[in-house]
Amino acid sequence: MKVIKTVEEMQSWSETVQLRGETVGLVPTMGYFHQGHLSLMETAKAMCDHLVVSLFVNPTQFGENEDLDAYPMDLDRDFKLAGEKGASVVFAPPREEIYPARFQTSVELASLPLHLCGLKRPVHFGGVATVVTKLFNIVRPGVAVFGAKDFQQLQVIRQLVKDLNFNIRIVGNPIVREADGLAMSSRNVYLSPDERASALGLSRSLELAERLIQEGERDAASLRAKVADLITGFDHTAMEYVTLCDPETLEDVDRVTAPVLVALAVKVGTTRLIDNRVIDPAQ
Ligand code: AMP
Repeated sequence: MKVIKTVEEMQSWSETVQLRGETVGLVPTMGYFHQGHLSLMETAKAMCDHLVVSLFVNPTQFGENEDLDAYPMDLDRDFKLAGEKGASVVFAPPREEIYPARFQTSVELASLPLHLCGLKRPVHFGGVATVVTKLFNIVRPGVAVFGAKDFQQLQVIRQLVKDLNFNIRIVGNPIVREADGLAMSSRNVYLSPDERASALGLSRSLELAERLIQEGERDAASLRAKVADLITGFDHTAMEYVTLCDPETLEDVDRVTAPVLVALAVKVGTTRLIDNRVIDPAQ
């Protein structure tokens, strides 16, 4: 496995293998791998001749008071894990390689970022869309794999691929969870043992929403209140949002009449966690 740090070398590696007729699958990440990341690598590797994993903690998707400088990192472990998953390349550029002096272009979406996490994180999806556009142009993959854990991000990327005519197949992978239900996240390392116990409220509340919908509850306001009550019943939690919305447009719904995305963001201590589930009332 090669570690590539420059845009030029990454583009030329990709061009060389594709001239030989070999296919490239990309998994974009910010590193500090867990089983969620590894599942995306397995998917991309199964679909393509070459797996390229990008590892870049993208500063433009962090707001001013967010955890950019504290973001967990263990490059040697990540390189080893990506190698074990059969990666041909880990693309791990320094910041100035992606954002050189006088960098001034960004990719912004009009409406998808106006929902869910975009409300509290106004610069986030512009940063994501810009860096993913750059990664697509640098790595030139035929397939790129993302996790449904970041559901809104996945929708943003599907939309930008469509809008900007990237010839890339976007694959969404299901959320990988710990045995007790907590969605895996690089940020889970910030949690104290007490907070780790409280973080279980997120997945529990999604199970509750699913059960209530299966039992016939259709009113979004009532479902939101019950989900929020369950979560805030745990210590150290502060609800940022609980939303029931259309999984495509992310527009809020008042009643559950079709598959609905139940999405949550919760502060547990100082750590912001997200989780979601698509629930089909017909099942
Ligand atoms: P990150 O390194 O947090 O930016 O995540 C990189 C990719 O891994 C994104 O596509 C995430 O949606 C995905 N991912 C993160 N956590 C999980 C998880 N628990 N299950 C599945 N995919 C995940």
